[in-house]
Amino acid sequence: MNKHLVKVGVVGTGHLGQYHLKQYKSIDNLELIGFYDINNDRRKFIKEEFSLPSFENLKKLLSQCDAVSIVTPTKTHFEVAKEALQSNCHVLIEKPITVTVEEAENLILLAKEKKKIIQVGHIERFNPALESLKKYNLNPTYVEFQRLAPYTVRGTDVPVVLDLMIHDIDILLSLVKDTVIDIHATGLSILTESVDIAHALIKFKKGCVASITSSRISKEKVRKVKLYQKNSYTTVDLNAGLSEIYQVFSRDDMIPKALITKPFIRNDKTKIITYDKPKVFNSDMLKLELENFIYSIRNNRIPIVSGEDGKEALSLAVKIQEAINKGIK
Ligand code: NAD
Repeated sequence: MNKHLVKVGVVGTGHLGQYHLKQYKSIDNLELIGFYDINNDRRKFIKEEFSLPSFENLKKLLSQCDAVSIVTPTKTHFEVAKEALQSNCHVLIEKPITVTVEEAENLILLAKEKKKIIQVGHIERFNPALESLKKYNLNPTYVEFQRLAPYTVRGTDVPVVLDLMIHDIDILLSLVKDTVIDIHATGLSILTESVDIAHALIKFKKGCVASITSSRISKEKVRKVKLYQKNSYTTVDLNAGLSEIYQVFSRDDMIPKALITKPFIRNDKTKIITYDKPKVFNSDMLKLELENFIYSIRNNRIPIVSGEDGKEALSLAVKIQEAINKGIK
């Protein structure tokens, strides 16, 4: 294990970047070197707010760091990450990894050449509600995602598929390890010049079907996942941190005592539905994500969300966006 403290910086300290700084301040095994933001006023504000060194250009920050979080607008991820890797820094790139798959591939190649880690900020992988399901044998045949958010200007430099839907695409690809064989998608622009509301229907080779709805024009914030498979229905509220599992057993099956059970009659014989609400630990997802970044660097491990994972999620997102574009024309 690499015992030295990892020297970390943050590039882009807008809405999300300030939370990266805040969390890094609370994590062990690192030295927070400082930050860089292209906006002078923002730099001044963050410097005073966090009492941290502010660097006047990216190059100077990179020359003093082993690793950086890249929390700039998506369209700048490629250039900033390329410069960071060329300066021998490990990178945690906020989602989506880049705008194009080709850019993501170039970064992955460069990281390999430089022997550096790319982690991508698909933060939902650290959601404790999803974590609580790890002990169950999830093998869904139908998955439904719903992610609705009130409108904000942030993130609208890319379509909703790359901004919000990509979170669910990444969760989906982590749950269903199979090849996508068919995509149907529709979307609409309501407030911005790009797609604000989208729906995708994705079919996998072994038969799983996923339906994903994403909107950035909603009154309320909704982040829900429903997983259906033979004899089991699981529902996850990613916002509320709640997971619930209903399973169907025969009367002769061994049913764990802790489960709440309810008999029901099917036309063949009597079955039992069980209800389980696994304990969801209350932990900060961003802190877990950044800790995984530091751990991966110190132990030379592949992070939970690798550059390759980020590229796969982007690749499916781009195909969904292309399917939407075909429908719009
Ligand atoms: P933001 O607009 O609030 O902040 C971006 C900051 O980057 C600004 O302060 C801007 O001045 C600075 N900046 C722009 N170009 C720069 C450059 N070349 N070098 C240095 N600084 C630069 O945006 P945000 O909401 O914080 O989003 C930033 C990134 O984080 C986006 O890629 C977004 O998709 C992602 N994001 C991820 C999540 C998540 O859940 N993982 C949530 C929100 C945002």
